[in-house]
Amino acid sequence: MAQLLNGKLLASQRAAKLKEEVNKLKQQGIKPTLCVINIGNDPGSKIYLKTKKRRAAELGITQKLYQLPAEVDQANVVKLIDQLNADKSINALMIQLPVPHQLNLNEALGRIIPEKDVDCLSPSNVGRLWRGDHFVEPATAHGILALLDHYDLDLHGKNVVIIGRSSIVGKPLAALLLERDATVSILHSKTRNLGEYTKNADILVSAAGQPGLVKAGMVKQGAVVVDVGINRVHGQTVGDVDFADVAQRASYITPVPGGVGPLTVEALMEQVVGLTRRQNGR
Ligand code: NDP
Repeated sequence: MAQLLNGKLLASQRAAKLKEEVNKLKQQGIKPTLCVINIGNDPGSKIYLKTKKRRAAELGITQKLYQLPAEVDQANVVKLIDQLNADKSINALMIQLPVPHQLNLNEALGRIIPEKDVDCLSPSNVGRLWRGDHFVEPATAHGILALLDHYDLDLHGKNVVIIGRSSIVGKPLAALLLERDATVSILHSKTRNLGEYTKNADILVSAAGQPGLVKAGMVKQGAVVVDVGINRVHGQTVGDVDFADVAQRASYITPVPGGVGPLTVEALMEQVVGLTRRQNGR
């Protein structure tokens, strides 16, 4: 039976340290502030926003929310971003995803100044990431590496297979893993025969958002399995991995919930504090 990679516990340990850092900054008159722009009423976003708000409050980080109507046009989104870019009281700025289809998301993300781009989605920060410059790191990828490091799971020369090529999970994670000398494969919905790749993975990361996608037969004996997926099935939160069966083959596995999720929120807050420090020359 695999050992659990306990993200919830690690997140709370890291939060204790981060809270101290926030307190020190506050003693110097610096109040780390995250601003989130939410557009429309996506039900998943509501849950994420609530979690962020709670975690920020626990850490002493100020969180501001700008709620825009679903039918807002691009010009008004850009206007708000420009206003928040210029607002010195805001250290970190992000757009809650997804956004309504009429909007040009890439243009909006590109409008956020790199100094405040906490999600690392502006073109220059994405470029920096692939160049190995850790200006800001995308939260989920950062959280996954923190978890693997905490359990001393070596990445050097390992075959890592990631299912999912999104800009927020698969691609930035690949960039960070390459830098750590892993051999990385990224699979997606057009990949033929996923199992051919996943069976060779020393570390398998699934970020597809498809419950039941990863079956025990697709996993190498002794592999490390990281389940990023968050899916609602019959009122329960499950990942992409058939947990009970895969846990019999894997050496380590993340639970869902309690694995990558808590670390993502924690890592986001760490990035907020990192950006705040840099803006204040600390
Ligand atoms: P996206 O929908 O943006 O990306 C999903 C990716 O998975 C795409 O690249 C897609 O391929 C691929 N994919 C979908 N179905 C299959 C399949 N059957 N076989 C192979 N590849 C497939 O999602 P996100 O990256 O935003 O999120 C992925 C999951 O992770 C979701 O469940 C989300 O809720 C969760 N998540 C969890 C976080 C956490 O902290 N735990 C943080 C962020 C996300 P293609 O590109 O071809 O469409």
